[in-house]
Amino acid sequence: MKDTEIINFYNNLDQYAKDKIDRQLIDLTNAKKESRNYCIKVCPKCDAVNPRFTKGGNANSGKPMLKCSCCHKRFTYDNGQLTHYSHQDESKWDQLIVDTFSQVPVEKSAANMNISTYTVWRMRMKLLHMLEKMIADTVVSGEIELDEKYILNSHKGEKKDNLKPRKRGGSASKRGLSNEQICLPTAVQRNGTAVLKATNTATPTSGDLMKLSNSIGENSMAWIDGKTAYNNLLSEKHCEIRVMKDHTTYTSLDHLNNVNAFHRLIEKWYKGYNGVASKYINRYAALFTLVREYTGCDTQEILLSIKKRMHQITDFFRIVDMKKDDLFIYSIS
Ligand SMILES: [Zn+2]
Repeated sequence: MKDTEIINFYNNLDQYAKDKIDRQLIDLTNAKKESRNYCIKVCPKCDAVNPRFTKGGNANSGKPMLKCSCCHKRFTYDNGQLTHYSHQDESKWDQLIVDTFSQVPVEKSAANMNISTYTVWRMRMKLLHMLEKMIADTVVSGEIELDEKYILNSHKGEKKDNLKPRKRGGSASKRGLSNEQICLPTAVQRNGTAVLKATNTATPTSGDLMKLSNSIGENSMAWIDGKTAYNNLLSEKHCEIRVMKDHTTYTSLDHLNNVNAFHRLIEKWYKGYNGVASKYINRYAALFTLVREYTGCDTQEILLSIKKRMHQITDFFRIVDMKKDDLFIYSIS
């Protein structure tokens, strides 16, 4: 449509429709503005909290720099953000965020962005690491549902002696829950956010589930499927426990529908990947949690919101740390 056609189209709308479009435009403009605001609270050079920052010229890369009023040192404006220490500009990172939340394969993103597959893979790992950090302090409270999700382990990209690779969609060699199954305890707040974290292989012990301790709000009402391993965690948090034996006992109040729905979403997304190396599973767990949170949002809304949230934190994740920092380690037998 030409500009004049758009103006005519707009002018012919009812007032109600005009108001709606105006509101959406204002929201979008505000979100865009906020998504650009970096919020550096601590000086990365001297750790001073909320010092005054002034303009400090440009770095060799051309990036604008800020100067700290305490230590007088300079650093680039995107310190601790995705573009920091990156040869890729913001538009490439934006595309990567959109592609990651649309489950576009790395190879396809690489072709679209005209950069190598390995670079895009590393960019994705950097993003996932940042997402994990972004939601690390999430606490679910009030009415919560808890259950575990099991995922068959994968050594994608690794050479391991005595381990035959599984075919895509392969099955475990042992029956039932063995250490081939990675356990992801899940806590979903009704009408709220969720916590998902790989803690162990096979059935979780009481100690494994205690790793969720910082994520569970005190005095919550907790629905579980009867696994006694949850008891210590929930009694420590003074939660009231309601046990659901099976689906037939579900009522409009007593059910595990929210956590079950989240597990179906994980199942669907996990299948979409041609395997995820288990050591990176918690980075993907962060992504799944956010995919659930942003259900129903369009990709531009997701992009703006994610950028805004990422600007509240800093994450110094270097390529050398990619394969050793923050991994899910478990024994293989
Ligand atoms: Zn400083």
